[in-house]
Amino acid sequence: MRIQLGFYVDAERCVQCHACEVACKGANDVEFGVKWRRVIHAWVGEYPRVTDRNLTVSCHHCAEPACVEVCPVGAITKRKKDGIVLVDRDVCIGCRACLSACIYKAPQFGRDRTMQKCTFCVERIDAGEEPACVATCPGEALHFGPLGELKLQNRGGARVVHQLTGQGAPSLLIATAPGAPAADVFLDPILNRKPAPVPAPAAMSPV
Ligand code: SF4
Ligand code: SF4
Repeated sequence: MRIQLGFYVDAERCVQCHACEVACKGANDVEFGVKWRRVIHAWVGEYPRVTDRNLTVSCHHCAEPACVEVCPVGAITKRKKDGIVLVDRDVCIGCRACLSACIYKAPQFGRDRTMQKCTFCVERIDAGEEPACVATCPGEALHFGPLGELKLQNRGGARVVHQLTGQGAPSLLIATAPGAPAADVFLDPILNRKPAPVPAPAAMSPV
């Protein structure tokens, strides 16, 4: 495989506008109720010093995709030339094994019960264009490219670039400002885990 394409999200620039989600749905005619890309949210800190952090995620086009391993009919493939993970919905039998295997819950299911997910806008990529989500982001928070090149994009030291490590070696980089809460604040929402409840700093007691 020559390169591995990936996404790079600058967490300092995401303004939680959801334009990437809408662009994805529009460009790919994604049905109501299904999202190939989602904006996630994390509260960081303790009262009164609480900040919210936003991030946009989709399929991470993993280097070692668990979904490809488990698909009983070989409907999911990974392109050799750029590492994009694609599903052939004509072959998919809707067994949902891929959804159980993917800890990031990228596989989605709609009315026709076949698996659907981010395609990295493969037609646009092959035409030399940017993916719709990247092209639309007004905050210039969302970028894509060969993972090796993206890792170097630290804006002259103004960013710390973190790679999401975990099952399948996901192709997602998260950039944060030095000193800002590290990227792992996003782990719970990325993994669809409910964050541990923050103990109430104080309680209201009747006087
Ligand atoms: S739902 Fe479809 S793509 Fe997913 S594992 Fe089953 S057959 Fe494969
Ligand atoms: S790359 Fe394309 S399919 Fe994937 S999230 Fe972006 S717009 Fe959607």
